[in-house]
Amino acid sequence: MNSTAAPQIVIIGAGFGGLTAARRLARYPVQITLIDRRNHHTFQPLLYQVATAGLSPGEIAAPIRWIVRGQHNIEVLLGEVQDFDLERRIVKLTEREILYDYLVVAAGASHAYFGHDEWERLAPGLKTIEDALEIRRRVLLAFELAERQAGSGEGQVQLNFVIVGGGPTGVELAGTLAEIARRALANEFNSIDPKRTRVILLEGGPRILPTYPEDLSRSAEEQMRALGVEVHTSTMVTGVEPAAVVMGETRLPSVVTLWAAGVAASPLGKKLGASTDRAGRVLVNPDLSLPGHREVFVIGDLASLKDETGAPVPGVAPAAIQQGNATARNIARDLRREPRKNFHYINKGSLATIGRAAGIAQFGKIHISGFIAWLSWLFVHIFFLIGFRNRIIVLIQWAWSYFTYERGARLITGDQTLPGWDMRSEQNDSTAKTMSPEASITRPRNS
Ligand SMILES: Cc1cc2nc3c(=O)[nH]c(=O)nc-3n(C[C@H](O)[C@H](O)[C@H](O)COP(=O)(O)OP(=O)(O)OC[C@H]3O[C@@H](n4cnc5c(N)ncnc54)[C@H](O)[C@@H]3O)c2cc1C
Repeated sequence: MNSTAAPQIVIIGAGFGGLTAARRLARYPVQITLIDRRNHHTFQPLLYQVATAGLSPGEIAAPIRWIVRGQHNIEVLLGEVQDFDLERRIVKLTEREILYDYLVVAAGASHAYFGHDEWERLAPGLKTIEDALEIRRRVLLAFELAERQAGSGEGQVQLNFVIVGGGPTGVELAGTLAEIARRALANEFNSIDPKRTRVILLEGGPRILPTYPEDLSRSAEEQMRALGVEVHTSTMVTGVEPAAVVMGETRLPSVVTLWAAGVAASPLGKKLGASTDRAGRVLVNPDLSLPGHREVFVIGDLASLKDETGAPVPGVAPAAIQQGNATARNIARDLRREPRKNFHYINKGSLATIGRAAGIAQFGKIHISGFIAWLSWLFVHIFFLIGFRNRIIVLIQWAWSYFTYERGARLITGDQTLPGWDMRSEQNDSTAKTMSPEASITRPRNS
């Protein structure tokens, strides 16, 4: 490190972890370069609201430059990091290399398709604004195509929306889609009855929301069923086709399939050359530094660390925020030549939203279900949303749609085709009458 110039700190990723680290580090005499491949920070917990037409993208995302405006020692750079040279302390972007004294890697995670990347086109996951808009497009388009087909005298196609994965994202998507079909769209079509839409949640494990205590999982399942979602646990998906989901010998027609089943860490983790866990997360030291490189920190969803009790630190926003703060403080300690402190995760509780007035919450030994849990989720998440304007708008939108059931962002943008729609309507002739879950599952075409 040059002893006279301000230390150069490069931060990769302006998600919860990287942005927190940058904002805290900006208080010290350092020069920060904050790199992200997008120009905006996305508030991922509310992505499902964009995917289900409740909110618009600008309400849950904010330009990174705007967030750090006024912090003159932060340079924001739009670019995709490709690689590192840890010995020469260089970050490699597509068209540029940047030197650092300290490096903070906070590149997050994405979906995992268990080695079947070809499923992604048929079953999008939810991670970015683009993903949310694609899901919104498919869902709204399915109703329009069904209306058009029914209007031309071909009868109502059975609309099945299948969500694979019963974690928090799958649960919130399924609950909200059921609400849309039963309430928001209920009286807007002439030829179809949106209430006949089936929303089916498939979970490979024995219960949904498996990281929560059993009583809360059970309650979540009951609340989902009350919203009209069909929940199938211990159901492993073995194939995704253009108009169907395959589970071993059974085949479930699906007009829109959504993927919420697996998480894989950013490929940048492997480029750091350290050991990773099965999901590609980097095994970090207790102070979040990279083994063998005190000047490199890995935080947020990309880091794998166990707390003092041996439990893994969860991949959630509060953990990434706490790690961003802890890393900034440790870099400041280095600059003051004080010893570093190990990261300590403070779990302030876990909340999951299910749909309208439904949710679960765990605060230590206190377990809450239903309306109060949903309300807690809403206020906690709006509190952490970046930008006062966004908080107010989201709160108003939410209150409005709570009382009116309206979803104001129902725009279909982009392409007007759905993968497998034509095949779907052919299959429908044989499945439209079979409304029970068991009856609707047919043999794979080639078995
Ligand atoms: C749909 C969904 C719902 C969620 N709901 C909740 C919730 O209700 N509560 C909760 O606590 N947590 C929730 N989470 C999890 C939470 O969002 C993550 O734990 C958190 O975002 C992790 O923060 P991070 O900083 O590690 O990564 P992220 O916030 O994912 O940020 C990573 C950043 O790195 C950038 N990046 C990636 N690769 C590169 C590259 N090569 N070059 C440049 N930039 C790059 C990305 O563009 C992104 O901005 C949810 C996640 C999702 C996807």
